[in-house]
Amino acid sequence: MSCPHLRRLATLSEFRYIDSCPCNGGIVHLSWDVATLHLSLKDFGWLAEVVAQAVRREEEEPEIPFVLWVGSVALRMSFEERHGLHTMIQAALAELQQGGLEKKSPEVFRFLN
Ligand SMILES: [Zn+2]
Repeated sequence: MSCPHLRRLATLSEFRYIDSCPCNGGIVHLSWDVATLHLSLKDFGWLAEVVAQAVRREEEEPEIPFVLWVGSVALRMSFEERHGLHTMIQAALAELQQGGLEKKSPEVFRFLN
């Protein structure tokens, strides 16, 4: 399921990184260990917002576990991991904006704690 047009947006570690490609109006491929999420630009914007909210909220309640649901996939993250994810997403967003890509089409995210 790899695409020949992938462009690396951000890298956190060997198995945690974000690529994008121009297919179907733009797809963001977020790899996190064994999971790879294939997101529209709109969905990626949603994910960025959800993670940013979680990071802000933990300043009040740092012990709340972070579980990110994307469709049927749950990613359980430690404090360090969600900060890593947040940093990586922000770097990817900055990179996307430089590439001039617009956000499009609907959601698939929900956030549980
Ligand atoms: Zn592609």
